[in-house]
Amino acid sequence: MAKNILHCSFCGRSRDEVKILIAGQEGHICENCVEHAREIIDQELMVRDEKAPNSSFKLTIKKPIEIKKFLDEYVIGQDEAKKVLAVAVYNHYKRLQQRPADVNAAAGNEIEIEKSNIIMVGETGTGKTLLAKSIARMLNVPFAIVDATVFTEAGYVGEDVESILTRLLQVCNYDVNAAEKGIVYIDEIDKIARKGDNPSITRDVSGEGVQQGMLKLLEGTDVLVPPQGGRKHPEQKLIKINTQNILFICGGAFDGIDKIIARRVQTNTIGFNVDKTLQENMKKNLLRYVNATDLKQFGLIPELLGRLPVVTHLDPLDAETLRAILTQPKNALMKQYKKLFELEGIDLTIENDVLDFMVERAVEYKLGARGLRSICEGILTDAMFELPSSKETSFTLDLDYAKRKFDKSKLSLLKVA
Ligand code: ADP
Repeated sequence: MAKNILHCSFCGRSRDEVKILIAGQEGHICENCVEHAREIIDQELMVRDEKAPNSSFKLTIKKPIEIKKFLDEYVIGQDEAKKVLAVAVYNHYKRLQQRPADVNAAAGNEIEIEKSNIIMVGETGTGKTLLAKSIARMLNVPFAIVDATVFTEAGYVGEDVESILTRLLQVCNYDVNAAEKGIVYIDEIDKIARKGDNPSITRDVSGEGVQQGMLKLLEGTDVLVPPQGGRKHPEQKLIKINTQNILFICGGAFDGIDKIIARRVQTNTIGFNVDKTLQENMKKNLLRYVNATDLKQFGLIPELLGRLPVVTHLDPLDAETLRAILTQPKNALMKQYKKLFELEGIDLTIENDVLDFMVERAVEYKLGARGLRSICEGILTDAMFELPSSKETSFTLDLDYAKRKFDKSKLSLLKVA
């Protein structure tokens, strides 16, 4: 090599043969070698990632009692569901720490702990999604919510069942390793029940097909997932995901299941002539007895139920629970509004009877926990509009103000007869 002509110290090309030559302390590197080095780094990191768990999702497992305690911070009541979930989740992730099945078998250890996918039965707005979301937050695993009805309406012509996993991949930036340990919450699972002897299911045409399609996802196999969701098509590169360690939590309101349970437990007090509150109480109690037989009768196929071995229920929310939801959870609505006002330099005081008023309206208008938020917005929007431009440093929300604003809001038109 000529002494005065600069060369790439890696490939030996001269200054004239490359576009860029970057100088180091004792040599140079050309753009081609930089790119090549980048590829080597990427490949090496990918191999290491496969061996070690991904850094952004480091699974933290707690004991069932601690899991329940954590859930208590975010979800009011629902003790039974919390306990069942805590145990199922704990066992599921314990199972993840076991050696793979083939290693176990080779070692003569044939006990393989099976997955504990969960099904939750409870009226809408009672905290099913919140429970699943809180669990994922605690474990620090990727979490996706999907709606089973998307698959009902489109069936196999529209969205493929595999795209349930697309959501999971998307939330963890296509990190397959992390996705394979994630949690998927499948909402409205009751809407894919097949038409059986349940009169409340009238519109479903492809429910059973969708249930069949879901079997392979739930049981734990390699599934080819379209990275952008939708329908698989030949030109789309599919991503292989193993679902063996993905925890599936399904939820649904299962309208009318109380009658199925009542029939099973031979209670015949549910009827048209029975007092409404008594009926509600009965319903609440009946859900406690829900089991796989009832779900099968509702229209879930036995194969699917076999892959959802843990069944639990959520209680309907009474006034007392709604009141607690307003103030107690870690990110309770009232705490959120206080914070919002605080950011404006305003000290917000909410009088106790205002909280009672909000709960009464939520119960009266049958808005449930979700409605509490709309009620708060209806009452506080004017204050949030005006106060940032004023010089006020405090604001007291009293009953008189709350009533006036509520009556003016659109919500007062929602009253159900
Ligand atoms: P579901 O999935 O059962 O239809 P969600 O979990 O989506 O209901 O609940 C809707 C909202 O209502 C939640 O975001 C939460 O703010 C509130 N909520 C419902 N139930 C509870 C509960 N038991 N504790 C605290 N908040 C609740």
